[in-house]
Amino acid sequence: MNTEHDPKLRYARQLLLPGMSENAQKQLGSARVLMLGLGGPASACAVHLVEAGVGHLSLIDGLRVDDPDLSEQFMFSGKDVGAFRVEAARDFLQERSPELSIEIIKEPFTSHSAERLLSAADLVVDALDDWQSKILASDVCMQLGRTLVHCGIRGFEFHIYTMIPGRSACLRCVLSKTGMEDLVSAPLSHAAFGPLAGMAGCFQAIEVIKLITGLGTTPGNHLIKFDSLRRDFDDVTNLNPRTDCPDCGRPF
Ligand SMILES: [Zn+2]
Repeated sequence: MNTEHDPKLRYARQLLLPGMSENAQKQLGSARVLMLGLGGPASACAVHLVEAGVGHLSLIDGLRVDDPDLSEQFMFSGKDVGAFRVEAARDFLQERSPELSIEIIKEPFTSHSAERLLSAADLVVDALDDWQSKILASDVCMQLGRTLVHCGIRGFEFHIYTMIPGRSACLRCVLSKTGMEDLVSAPLSHAAFGPLAGMAGCFQAIEVIKLITGLGTTPGNHLIKFDSLRRDFDDVTNLNPRTDCPDCGRPF
């Protein structure tokens, strides 16, 4: 088996895209993306980032692979049950792209480690399961000036919000402006619809690739909602920083 890869061939089809220059490919190669948690959207997002050529991926998660993970996480298989999710994910991703750098951090995301962990990243992807941790990620990303590609999944619906400090409302403000405050206090749901999680992860990967390469537009004050049962997309706009919010309302 030939394990040598020519990067120019590997990314040849991507490089045919309008605007995807060799320089854009290099930007992907030098980017450092941190994935918080390995919940529902993580598999699709991580695989597409790695295959697009994102050079450095850090995975943070303290959980072990459980049987129910297999129904929505194609990075894991039966042989991984009981192993740490970051180790199983690293092995899966590294096999697809041996030349890329994948760091694993085998610990839960908490307020004690949040600032240290997030400060090393260019971009942060939210694949966390619980809403308290999502709010913590938003708070710390705002404080550090790190862009956060947030995802929330509930039942057959998901939303994606790219939070760019200085241009975006923080997650607390967004949830209150969009009538979704109840997500934070609701009991953690383990309900999962595999294809929807995959879609959400693909959306997150697209956002990350656009942000790194400068392709297209990322307004920073829009939230995309998708209801898979109604086949309905909604783009909620004008989610600007609030002047009365200590997190998003301060100048950057
Ligand atoms: Zn705010």
